Amino acid sequence: TDLTNHLPTAELQALDAAHHMHPFTANGELAQKGVRVITRAKGVTLTDSEGHEILDAMAGLWCVNVGYGREELADVAARQMRELPYYNTFFQTTHVPAIALAAKIAELAPGDLNNVFFAGSGSEANDTNIRMVRHYWAMKGKPTKSILISRKNAYHGSSVGSGSLGGMSGMHAQGGLPIPDIHHINQPNWWAEGGDATPEDFGLACAQELEQAILELGEDRVAAFIAEPIQGAGGVIVPPATYWPEIQRICDKYEILLIADEVICGFGRTGAWFGSETMGIRPDIMTIAKGLSSGYAPIGGSIVSDEVASVIAQGEFNHGYTYSGHPVAAAVALENLRILEEEKIVERVKTVTAPYLKEKWEALVAHPLVGEANIIGMMGSITLTPNKSTRAAFAAEAGTVGYICRERCFANNLVMRHVGDRMIISPPLVITEAEIDTLIARATTSLDECL
Ligand code: PLP
Repeated sequence: TDLTNHLPTAELQALDAAHHMHPFTANGELAQKGVRVITRAKGVTLTDSEGHEILDAMAGLWCVNVGYGREELADVAARQMRELPYYNTFFQTTHVPAIALAAKIAELAPGDLNNVFFAGSGSEANDTNIRMVRHYWAMKGKPTKSILISRKNAYHGSSVGSGSLGGMSGMHAQGGLPIPDIHHINQPNWWAEGGDATPEDFGLACAQELEQAILELGEDRVAAFIAEPIQGAGGVIVPPATYWPEIQRICDKYEILLIADEVICGFGRTGAWFGSETMGIRPDIMTIAKGLSSGYAPIGGSIVSDEVASVIAQGEFNHGYTYSGHPVAAAVALENLRILEEEKIVERVKTVTAPYLKEKWEALVAHPLVGEANIIGMMGSITLTPNKSTRAAFAAEAGTVGYICRERCFANNLVMRHVGDRMIISPPLVITEAEIDTLIARATTSLDECL
């Protein structure tokens, strides 16, 4: 098949409808509507099969941190495919890309997070984490410590294990999730659930739910707490400042391992290399994927503390994936980290573009439909509401207004996502000030069209 000289759009749509099952999609409905075919991309701009140029304010799925069309990444992938396209890291062998990438990640990660277990995705990495923390406690002579505490509305992936860690009720309703010994506490979503409390009091109360859960379940039964530093797919929910310090205190007090799911927040998205640094926490394990390779190759992993890794190293950990440390994906990830470092992209986000975006994004609160704006670094949300002072939700079925707004954005050549009636962005980290202006202008037009 010649992918560069493709079929007419209608034929592509018909073939897609006939054969392609899309993830997280009502496929019957999509087949009726006609899918949009994306053919190429450069920088922050996608081009579709009909020639529309679309500003991708979601960086694909929160992942294309260095932007599209990086020749260096394509060159590295081709070179590595010629040199060594595949070899495993299972049975007393390794290879240069996996070694170099693990060492580079250890250098970038804070504290004693010096050990990397590779996976093919964030979901796989979180499956690793479930097994690793349980195995860690078993190795320490505490096999009853097997419960992982997570949060409602969290997203940690789509496999049976990671989907169980996640707290999305729609996912739990299908396919027999969750697996045993996963417990969910509330998310710190002040706008929707804070009632009359101040954000600070509400943040503290949400964190203290972790302590209550530990006491109810039994200290001797809880292995770990997992959370995203800033909840992403749940709707870019920036927690009140009181939340994370209290969570860290509780994890320390009860000897609960803290897993920071950095799949979205990692590699610059919050204006630091890791969201844990932005939130001031010290995780024992970090989940990584997405921005690790800027989405150019599928790769994920767990960054593990010296303490946890040294205990795991005392025996054989019966776990791994064919593509753990895949040489092409690892070489691409390494080159991606070189670009992030050499072009000082994270520093530029922190000092230049994130402050610029923050000012414009928060100004959207003046729009009649927008109740609040959340933003840190290059991830933000606005909540649509019919009544700002009561923080009311729309009477229509939840998410209807958000869906309409998302559709208007798409028609106006802007990719924004909606989670219920929250509109979210997570643009490539290389977005310029002029492109931020375009983003805000198209978002405003789309919001106006929803009035
Ligand atoms: N964890 C978080 C925080 C995510 O946002 C995602 C994906 O969106 C995952 C894990 C799962 O990663 P993957 O889709 O690579 O399996």
